[in-house]
This record gives sequence, C-alpha cells and structure tokens, in this order.
Amino acid sequence: MLQSKLFPKTRKEPPREAESINHKLLVRGGFIDQLMAGSWTLLPLGWRVVSRINQIIREEMNAIGGQEMLMPLLHPRSIWGETGRWGSTKDNPLGAKEIMYQFKDMRGREYALSFTHEEIVMDLLRKHIRSYQDLPVAVYHFSTKFRNEPRARSGILRGREFMMKDLYSAHTTEADLMEYYDQVKEAYSKIFTRLGFDFRITESGGGVFTDKTTHEFQVLAEGGEDTIFYCDACGWGENREIFEGKAGERCPSCKKGKTIRAQAIEVGNIFPLGTWYSEKMNVSYTDADGRQKPVWFASYGIGSTRVLGASVEVSHDESGIIWYPQVAPFDVHLIELKAQNSKLKTDPKEIYKRLSEAGIEVLWDDRDKSAGEKFAEADLIGIPVRLVVSKETAENIEWKRRNSKKTELLSLRQAIDRVKKMH
Ligand code: ATP
Ligand code: MG
Repeated sequence: MLQSKLFPKTRKEPPREAESINHKLLVRGGFIDQLMAGSWTLLPLGWRVVSRINQIIREEMNAIGGQEMLMPLLHPRSIWGETGRWGSTKDNPLGAKEIMYQFKDMRGREYALSFTHEEIVMDLLRKHIRSYQDLPVAVYHFSTKFRNEPRARSGILRGREFMMKDLYSAHTTEADLMEYYDQVKEAYSKIFTRLGFDFRITESGGGVFTDKTTHEFQVLAEGGEDTIFYCDACGWGENREIFEGKAGERCPSCKKGKTIRAQAIEVGNIFPLGTWYSEKMNVSYTDADGRQKPVWFASYGIGSTRVLGASVEVSHDESGIIWYPQVAPFDVHLIELKAQNSKLKTDPKEIYKRLSEAGIEVLWDDRDKSAGEKFAEADLIGIPVRLVVSKETAENIEWKRRNSKKTELLSLRQAIDRVKKMH
C-alpha cells in the first residue's frame, strides 16, 4: 500500500475531548473516526487491525468446532418478550430495556437493535433441533452490537455500537455443557495469549444474562475501568463487584498466595447459562429414552473493537502506538528517503515487490517529505518494523524495530528472514 494514497492523513493533535490513550493515538494515527459519542468508523488502518484480531479469534473458534454464520441485527419485540428481557430491570433482574435500543417503525411495529443473540439462537435451535443426535451445536458470528451505554467515554473501549464475536453452544446435559465451557475457556486463553496480552481470568456476576457466576478475561491495564483481585500464586481471580476481601490478604482459594488489586480491561466474558433460556422459550430435544428435555446452553463473547483499543492502552510510548506483530496493520513500514539529484542504489519499488512476494504486508512511504516527518509518523502509526532506503544505506536497508532505538544495516534477504521469524 502506498502511503501517499492512504486515507486519511495522520494528525499532529488529538481531538480536544479525547481523554484516554487509545482515543488520542488511534484518532491521530488515522485508525478510527468518531461520528458521535460511542460510535466509530474503523478507517482502513483500523479495519486491518480488527480483521487480524478477528482472524485469530476465528482460528481458535474453528479449532473447537465452532461454525461461523451471520445473524440479523434487527429483532422483533416478540422474541425478546419470550424471555422477558424486553422489559426493565425494575420488573425482572434480567430485564434489558435500559441497554437495548428499542423503537417503532411507521406502522407502529416494535423492534430492537441487537445487543446480544441468545434469543435468536434459541429460536434457531427450536426450529432445527429435534433429537439428542442433533446436539451438541456450537455456532458463532462477528457482528455489530448496539448498547445504550450511559457513559460512552474511554475511546473505542466502550462504544454504543461495537464489534463482538459471540459464540453459542447447546448441549444435552450439564456435564457436556461444562466440558465444552472449559474448552472455550482454554481457547480464549490461547486467543488472548496470541494477542500478546497479560491477562487474568476473574469470576463475576452475569448482568442481564444470567444469575450464575461467569468468567471474564481481564487485560491488566492502568487505564482499565474494571477493578479486579487476583492471586499472585494460583489462577484465582474475582471482579470487585463480587469480591468481599481486601488487597494483600491471603488468597481465598489456594491460601498460600497474596491477593493483588489491579485495574483491567474486560475483553472477553463467558456465560454458563444453563436451561433458563430453553425453558422460557421451549427449546427441547428428544432423548434416547424418548423423553423431552430442555437444552443446556452457554454464550461466549469477545469484543474485537475493544481488543483494538486495549492493544493500544497496553503498548505505546510518548511517540505513538507499538503494535504487536500479530495484529499490526502492516508487517513492515518501508520508508523511502528521496535522493537529491541522483537515484537511490536500491530501488524502493523492487524492495516493495520482493517483500510482497514473500507474503509480507508493506506500507510504503513514497511521499516527498523530510526524514524527521516520516519517522515521526511511522512512530505514531506503530508498525513493528521500519525499513529505510536512502543514499546513506547504499545497497543495504536500515532495519529498526518500533520498540527499540537500535538501527542496523541489513541485506534485503536478511530483513525478509527476520520479519518472517516474528510471526
Ligand atoms: P462492560 O462490563 O465492560 O460494560 P459487559 O460485561 O456488559 O461489558 P458483555 O456482555 O460481557 O459486556 O460483552 C462481551 C464482550 O463484549 C466484553 O467482554 C467486551 O469485550 C465487549 N463489550 C461489551 N460492551 C462493550 C462496549 N460498550 N463497547 C465495546 N466492547 C464492548
Ligand atoms: Mg461482561
């Protein structure tokens, strides 16, 4: 991709209203644009990052038998009425009126914009599942979620419209459900490890989804909105919402480690929902003994746009973003410093071609600008490797990692090998 053609240009100043790091840096770098509070365009650079995040999630979902599909976002009131979630929490602890965008069309018919899909999946199961032989089922999609968030600050971490991967699984027994739930927990741990995060798994309440205990995946980050407690020795962790102890106390689980209090960003949440939804919506299967039984159900979410923001919150410096290679918008930032009155010894076009042929994604800064300006913008955008071709580099190229100050002269072959090793 030629940087001269990239839309839009970077900007030197953050938006005045921006408070969080991800908001400032993602807007300045040209990754996202705000339409109104909590509503963002993923610009070409931002969409590249989210696509890479989604691909990592997709691979791990497929590895545990998840089947990808796509469900509608406009839902009739009737389906939300079946579980009572159309209503307010005043009437029902799981009522979701406060968070749902609900409206009428010109004929007076009532709809909601999707804030989650449990009811929609239940309806699918009711239509397509008959016997125990049709189960288990695990389906997922990536799609927009709409939530009427009272405080839509924190940049892209909290949108009123955001992207989520949500997986739903249905089973014949509680044991089968819990076995799969543990598999998903493992898959989520793999995903967040691949994404480069330092994270903890915490127990938490189920909000408008369930009265059961759920598990959250929390990325340790100073700017995080959640307060969590975890053990420095075992895997125990709880969200402040449900933890009754204090930092520094003995771990309530292993009784050996110490309880640590930290700020964190919730990037994923998994919910063992049980039979509450299938009983309300009459979703059952015929067992081997011929009897009708309710389906056991769970749902599992990861906010991919929140992951984009969290990646910036945990990896940046005063000059800009430092992408982890696995989610970076490009693998290499090729910077051409134009030679005055003479041609460069190495042709940037040829380098671009050879990098691309090696399967490396390159942003090529072909613009007529000073080295200082180009380097500052490269630091802001944060691509993990910077390669410079100039008169000084002669036949070689100058290699620099975004997270290091050291520069080295390498042959193109060496540079390609190093980029390949990073993945
Ligand atoms: P929070 O407590 O942060 O409001 P939640 O617990 O209500 O989030 P879940 O219903 O658990 O959210 O959603 C699953 C995942 O979707 C979350 O772990 C998070 O990654 C993402 N997510 C939830 N709400 C938002 C939002 N408003 N903007 C961006 N991502 C979100
Ligand atoms: Mg949650």
